[in-house]
Amino acid sequence: MSKVKTRFAPSPTGRMHVGNLRTALYAYLIAKHEGGTFMLRIEDTDQERFMEGALDIIYRTLADAGLVHDEGPDKDGGVGPYVQSERNARGIYLKYARQLVEQGDAYYCFCDKERLDGLKTTVAGKEIAIYDKHCLHLSKEEVEEKLAAGVPHVIRINMPTEGVTTFHDEIYGDITVNNAELDDMILIKSDGYPTYNFANVVDDHLMGITHVVRGNEYLSSTPKYNRLYEAFGWEVPVYVHCPLITNEEHQKLSKRSGHSSYEDLLEQGFVKDAIVNFVALLGWSPSDNHEIMSLEELVKNFDYRHMSKSPAVFDMTKLKWMNGEYIKKMDEDVFYELALPYLKQSLGEGLNLRRIAGMVKTRIEILPDICEMVDFFRQVPEYDTAMYTHKKMKTTAETSLQVLKDVLPLLESQGDYTNDALFALLTAYGKEKGYKTGYVMWPVRTAASGKQMTPAGATEILEIIGKEESLRRIRAAIEKLS
Ligand code: GLU
Repeated sequence: MSKVKTRFAPSPTGRMHVGNLRTALYAYLIAKHEGGTFMLRIEDTDQERFMEGALDIIYRTLADAGLVHDEGPDKDGGVGPYVQSERNARGIYLKYARQLVEQGDAYYCFCDKERLDGLKTTVAGKEIAIYDKHCLHLSKEEVEEKLAAGVPHVIRINMPTEGVTTFHDEIYGDITVNNAELDDMILIKSDGYPTYNFANVVDDHLMGITHVVRGNEYLSSTPKYNRLYEAFGWEVPVYVHCPLITNEEHQKLSKRSGHSSYEDLLEQGFVKDAIVNFVALLGWSPSDNHEIMSLEELVKNFDYRHMSKSPAVFDMTKLKWMNGEYIKKMDEDVFYELALPYLKQSLGEGLNLRRIAGMVKTRIEILPDICEMVDFFRQVPEYDTAMYTHKKMKTTAETSLQVLKDVLPLLESQGDYTNDALFALLTAYGKEKGYKTGYVMWPVRTAASGKQMTPAGATEILEIIGKEESLRRIRAAIEKLS
């Protein structure tokens, strides 16, 4: 078999949807697993859906996620152009469509909208229009005349009306359909652009694609593509259709549920390696169940033959967990850069943000978790004095008040305000009084933070907020408890 070559063929219509990212990733993994070529092709023949800036998003997302293409509009591999509008401008699609017309496998159709609307019927609540081959029966002269007169037209494939078409998909197996169900789909539109249906076949062949990887929404059209391959006498590629991705409620992913695009996920505070790892598992799982994998490990382990055909559930809880694991393992400096906007948003300037970043790194799942975890460094939130009562520490509001009153003068006269020195000071005080450490630290930490859970211990908090602020907070707590 020839060297594996896959392609990612996005349409520049906006942010990169998670489903598209998965297609790109799987196409990349399938190629790289076999030492093959991963190609990028831009499918911009639907001019109405084109969005300004979407091309940049495609390049940026692929580069950011590490899915480096070997060939594409910016990297010539000898089968370009790699942008369908440019290919169309060279007349590539029309040439092949005309070849089919000459062979009798396609024909010009001049039917107007009104006539086509009249062919619409409703089947199971869905409006469909099966073309009735009206223009197939025009004589050669009639066609020539209309073309010469500039009558608007399309080119349609001439599908057989009897028999069956079978194709093989690596994931879904053999699929057979009755040819009677196959519409005479349009190959060239009235604006002169090819349809996706036509362009993908012509391009995949001319560009030497061996494995077609795409979403399963194309599964139902695939028999039609096979008819095209057959008509041209071209070899049919290996098909790998990826399963549907749903949300936790088993519905199609929607923008509202926040799962929708790569950029949305970044904005929600997920990190790229975790997103890529997670997306790889939407439809595939490694045989050893070891789920945390770098891109290199994915390349090594990914085997499309083990993909699943049942819908993959986008489980936010799992993604959050995985993200937390990636953050824990992340290099300190890289994490600091990512955390900085959140730390600044919550704390402004003035505090040792690098140190605080180090405290939260192992405790968060997504970056915005930082804000709520550290906000107390800036200001003690409103809290209830009931928080001073802790069963295990054996503290109550009364014991806490006493401890705080005792430690206030000690802290006032303390010179070395580092964590270690403060810890020594407070434990020495506890020892002298016969108190357990928690009995002393719990009220101090509560007074300093107003929180039950903090990313740092009592004395570490005191060091970070500094002497003046510590004393202010302890005095305020004494007043609150008195
Ligand atoms: N341009 C199509 C899309 O963005 C690509 C489908 C395919 O991969 O063949 O959905």
